[in-house]
Amino acid sequence: MQRVEDSAFAETGRRRTLPRKKPAVIGLVLLGLLAVGLTGIKLYNLHRYHLETESRMMMDTVVSIHALGPEKITVPAMDRAFGRMAEVDARFNIHNPDSPIYAFNRFGTPITDPEILEVVRFALDISRRSGGAFDITVSPLIDLWGFYEDTPRVPAASDIAERLDRIGYEHLILRKDRLEKIHPDIRIDLGAVAKGYAIAQAVSVLKAHGVSSALVDAGGDVYALGKKGSRYWHVGIKGPRETQVLGYLEAEDTAVVGSGDYERFFTENGVRYHHIFDPRTGYPADGLSGITLIAPDPMAADAWATALFVLGPQEGMKLADTLADIQVVMVTTSGDTLLSAGLRGDTLQTIPTTE
Ligand code: AMP
Ligand code: MG
Repeated sequence: MQRVEDSAFAETGRRRTLPRKKPAVIGLVLLGLLAVGLTGIKLYNLHRYHLETESRMMMDTVVSIHALGPEKITVPAMDRAFGRMAEVDARFNIHNPDSPIYAFNRFGTPITDPEILEVVRFALDISRRSGGAFDITVSPLIDLWGFYEDTPRVPAASDIAERLDRIGYEHLILRKDRLEKIHPDIRIDLGAVAKGYAIAQAVSVLKAHGVSSALVDAGGDVYALGKKGSRYWHVGIKGPRETQVLGYLEAEDTAVVGSGDYERFFTENGVRYHHIFDPRTGYPADGLSGITLIAPDPMAADAWATALFVLGPQEGMKLADTLADIQVVMVTTSGDTLLSAGLRGDTLQTIPTTE
């Protein structure tokens, strides 16, 4: 702006010595005005590059999308991203009678939906790699413990033992184009991975619609797309107990996903029972109260958060240190904070660890 005014003044000065070149001077002044006008338009556009935020209830939580960019790009992109997440939510919701998972669980109808098959294939891979700690067939246990209703309770040990016979991912047969089960009682629940998948889908939709800077937050499980303008997105890492924030992460193209005993639980005789089950025992997994996974893929982060939570501090951290692209913050039931190898350097100094 300032430069345009300066050059117009310079031309005016020259006019005194060369009075005959009036049309040229007028032309230059007009050009100058045009430049001012254009600069004005540019500034106007800059004002329209703001952070757009919207929240909707889905997947049993509040999902917020924050996107940076011109409104005419971000607003429709966010709407479509939410739409995509709602589709995933409906398709993977085991209580939805229209979901292929519902029909599979209830009537044994093989699943042929390619999207569900893709997530099941991914989940089975995590099951194998976690030695069975992650297992989408734990559904009958969740049901027995009452976590699908509002009144969870500790079941009789004999009932737990009986249900364990029907649990194990080896009871599933995944063919190229269908998922079948070997016994009618086998039921699946993709709740430990579907939210990560939904976040990944939302991010793809945002990108496909021209958004390169956004934060998708599904009840504290987030993906940071690009940077927040020239700065990183700041993502807080929660402790398992409400008052604790362990530290902040500077995120760019990264998922930060948590699992813990604080999400859904009840207490009986002073003991906390939560919704993440050890498929080997039939009881809630022991050893950790919270875990946060930092990884490029939200679906992998979600699945590994649950898998490593079940494995516990020793076994879980040992496995975490072998996984490429995945970093972990664990909080044990005794309150100790543990970091995986990649975070033990100076990357996350804000998180005090327990030696
Ligand atoms: P998340 O909050 O991602 O850890 O997922 C928890 C949900 O995953 C629970 O509500 C159950 O539906 C399901 N789940 C519980 N235990 C397991 C397990 N060992 N493997 C896979 N899914 C599980
Ligand atoms: Mg999970």
